[in-house]
Amino acid sequence: MVTIRTDDGIEGHAFLGSAMFPADQDGPSLVRALKPLVIGRDPRDREAIYAAMQKRGRYVTLRAIGAVDVALWDIAAKASGQPLYKHLGAYRESIPAYASSAVLASREAYAEEAVGFRDGGWAAYKIHPPGPWQEDIEICRAVRAAVGPEYRLMLDSTWSYKYEHAIKVGRAIEQLGFYWYEDPLADDDLMGCIKLREKLDIPLMATEYSPGGFTNYAPWILNKATDYLRGDVAVKGGITALLKTAHLAEAFAMNFEIHHGGNSLNNWANLHVALSIPNTQFFEVLLPAQAQKYAIADDLEPDAQGLIHAPSGPGLGATIDFELIRAKTIGTLS
Ligand SMILES: [Mg+2]
Repeated sequence: MVTIRTDDGIEGHAFLGSAMFPADQDGPSLVRALKPLVIGRDPRDREAIYAAMQKRGRYVTLRAIGAVDVALWDIAAKASGQPLYKHLGAYRESIPAYASSAVLASREAYAEEAVGFRDGGWAAYKIHPPGPWQEDIEICRAVRAAVGPEYRLMLDSTWSYKYEHAIKVGRAIEQLGFYWYEDPLADDDLMGCIKLREKLDIPLMATEYSPGGFTNYAPWILNKATDYLRGDVAVKGGITALLKTAHLAEAFAMNFEIHHGGNSLNNWANLHVALSIPNTQFFEVLLPAQAQKYAIADDLEPDAQGLIHAPSGPGLGATIDFELIRAKTIGTLS
């Protein structure tokens, strides 16, 4: 947990680390490189602090920059006494959730899980397949057959294919009526994505992990290499980065689809952004959902219609389980 405290006694929080990247990878560098930039500063000088943090990009990760930025936004919204999405300027009060699968052991397991989420009212089911392209196509066929022709499905191939296989998978899921085709090629394969997008009708989604921060979206847009922009507070450097990206995308009539945040509080931060921009459609829930949740009481959960509702408390609005965090503390950096 990253905490920034103001002289008025307001505390802003963010969680650093996820199941894939433990916080000890980022904590020491955050304290070394970013803490000096916020100590003694006006927490409302977010844009100046963000610019200064960007210049430390060789010494810290975007995850660390994102955590400091999230905590600063939490402070700002708490100081204004509002939920963050209202402080940002609300666009909506709820957003449909989609289920984003883990890699499962069999076609049947995907099909069964997808039917469960369809029946539970969730807006869509996204397949993370194992990666061998022929098997991935078979999984998509099995899931489509199980859920019927109407239910919304997406495929996230997580940078698995060479171009010649990506085109085959793309044509197959196009025929199966999939909604988007995410990251079939390597995260930096701009040229491959340009070529692929020209040949396919299904919308292509890249830029979740394309190297670089906010400015790196420009070549993807200008070269028409993706139909969506993508990111989250951890991989792109905070709420400030997401807002800039969403507004950039809006100017090109593109949606900015927000990636899951890797930990509970990041997902609350992502949600506030999603509720305050017009050009996003879904809230991603990575499965197994429980494995992505920690240290928040009454964490985000879709209702019976598959909608995630706006938090009502000031700031991020999450009820952090400080007792649990204290009990599990293995070190304090300052
Ligand atoms: Mg993805």
